[in-house]
Amino acid sequence: MRRKSRQIHVGNVAIGGEAPIVVQSMTTTYTRDVESTVAQIQRLEDVGCEIVRVAVPEEEDALAIGEIKKRIHIPLVADIHYKHSLALEAIRQGIDCVRINPGNLINGRKSLEQIVAACKERGVAMRIGVNSGSIDALDQRGQMQRIQVRLRDDGVLERTDPAEARRKEREHLAERMVTKALEYISWCEELDFHEIKVSLKSSTVLTAVEAYRRFAQRSDYPLHLGITEAGTLVTGSVKSSVGLGLLLADGIGDTIRVSLSAEPEEEIPVAYEILRSLELRNRGVTFVSCPSCGRVEIDVIQVANEVEKRLSKVQTPIHVAVMGCVVNGPGESRDADVGLAGGKGRGVIFRKGEVIKTVPEDQFLDAVLKEVASLLPEREAKLVYPEGGIHETAGHHRTRTEGMGLPILKS
Ligand code: SF4
Repeated sequence: MRRKSRQIHVGNVAIGGEAPIVVQSMTTTYTRDVESTVAQIQRLEDVGCEIVRVAVPEEEDALAIGEIKKRIHIPLVADIHYKHSLALEAIRQGIDCVRINPGNLINGRKSLEQIVAACKERGVAMRIGVNSGSIDALDQRGQMQRIQVRLRDDGVLERTDPAEARRKEREHLAERMVTKALEYISWCEELDFHEIKVSLKSSTVLTAVEAYRRFAQRSDYPLHLGITEAGTLVTGSVKSSVGLGLLLADGIGDTIRVSLSAEPEEEIPVAYEILRSLELRNRGVTFVSCPSCGRVEIDVIQVANEVEKRLSKVQTPIHVAVMGCVVNGPGESRDADVGLAGGKGRGVIFRKGEVIKTVPEDQFLDAVLKEVASLLPEREAKLVYPEGGIHETAGHHRTRTEGMGLPILKS
């Protein structure tokens, strides 16, 4: 059951309530470099990013927002720290949402009040972001640990179980994050401002999960989920999948970002994969491929990677399988909209459960993409399968000339 959150809007995108869970990312360009920023946002739009955030560290960045807004199609969020004047300029420039941590604004609540007034006037939403790294509990924790050591030395305190101590620390930090977020929300509510979403990020998966769960029990404001500073493509994808997966499976979360030390475009497929795995969104390709093994009869790794890459811009829900041999190949391929099952120097192409044809290895890519394109709307079909077909091959030297045979061909 999805948590019942109140609905807000960031530009024309609904967040919370019954709205689909929204996928976000953040640019890595200098925002003042309008050309590069717009180009990156357009690449993000192409792969399905629905809201994008830009860093606004200085006035020049805030002043670039108006021009960027004119050239993109998805709502823009300004990420502001310390100076409320940057938020005010971003709002003047037409930003759709400001992401702030009221705790690090110079002049704290007074600055927040000015931002809220500007947001209300222009119909701009606000993300209140409380990160574990910015919470002073870290200092307090060090202090507490010093006290604990002294008490232990004095024989007053028994040595605690390290796992238990970590759990308590985590709960303490999560509670402080939630308390801070609720306090900032109450400042906004006193000004009759409610267009708020909240993030409670941490680079530690269990801390973030704890904080979001606690907040979800105490407030109905929509939640933006993320594991911050999660790491590179592999590390970050795993941490985000675990953290976001736990929360989403609990019904918590209205927007998500997978943070990766990688090109932001790489964050989007990971985010959609998490949502598809939990059947929360069905946009794009549900991709099945086998890992290959000693029975493999085609170069499944290369073919699968190439097919997946070429389908990265597809938004229409479609199920594609690339399988290495007759053991599981025909079954998975039959269940897919389009499937390739490798066997004895060739591959069998399935479409909607039916065997369409068999093709040699150098035609795998062409055959799969052609069948996929035939099931897509015209605009997407052109992206997947250009006129004249695919002439490159994917997969070399792995196709067996003497394989295990492909009994399915006889049926
Ligand atoms: S489908 Fe065949 S090649 Fe692929 S993992 Fe299974 S047994 Fe191995």
